[in-house]
Amino acid sequence: MDKPSDDVRDNFVKIVPRADESEFDRSVLGMNLKALARIYDDVAQKQQNFAAALKLRGLSVSCPRDCGLCCEHFMPDILPVEADMLAYHLLLRRPALIQLVFQDADKSARSDGCPFWNAEGRGRNCLVYEGRPLICRLFGCSTVHSKKGEPVFALCKQFPHNPQVPQRRYIGAQQIQDSFGAIPPAMSDYSAMILGIEPDGVSSRMPLDKALPPALNRVALMLQMTAKPA
Ligand code: SF4
Ligand code: SF4
Repeated sequence: MDKPSDDVRDNFVKIVPRADESEFDRSVLGMNLKALARIYDDVAQKQQNFAAALKLRGLSVSCPRDCGLCCEHFMPDILPVEADMLAYHLLLRRPALIQLVFQDADKSARSDGCPFWNAEGRGRNCLVYEGRPLICRLFGCSTVHSKKGEPVFALCKQFPHNPQVPQRRYIGAQQIQDSFGAIPPAMSDYSAMILGIEPDGVSSRMPLDKALPPALNRVALMLQMTAKPA
């Protein structure tokens, strides 16, 4: 289903406060979200370790405060479990933002970017930061694998030039370690971990705005099924 009916949309918020967390956590969906949360925590830990290593060397390699350009005009492709996590975040913490998904879906001339990009955010441009998918967590601080299987760390073009790390690309674990003191998380490793939660989901990867309506339905339904009796 691409889009919930108005009734379902209106009921999203009403049903959520009555969810029984322990029942929800025991559901397959709840367990999948917990597994994903552990992976996201691990990414954050690796990024903190990387930032700490840079600090030890007195290196400044980070996003300018008011940037956020990487998600302007960008629509992430996400797996169903990532859509479920974002739906869970919206339903429980940011229900007022749910309308942005449907406002965009209702437009005849579609906007070309993520519905949660806030151009006025001044460095806090993501309206769903805590629930954002993996690719958004890795912007600017991750490695990809070269054809030879080596990690490659490319500094974002928007990072200010730093003479201590003059190259834009660092190739191989040794070069990255020698230059920065640590290695950022590898995108493909974490993508594979997330695929491991729901291996069948690989063929269902889709743009965030398409993935969210069915995810909102799935998560709202499970919250309803695990709701505390009135
Ligand atoms: S990763 Fe690059 S484009 Fe994105 S916020 Fe950081 S500096 Fe800006
Ligand atoms: S979810 Fe947030 S970080 Fe990701 S593309 Fe949308 S606005 Fe950017």
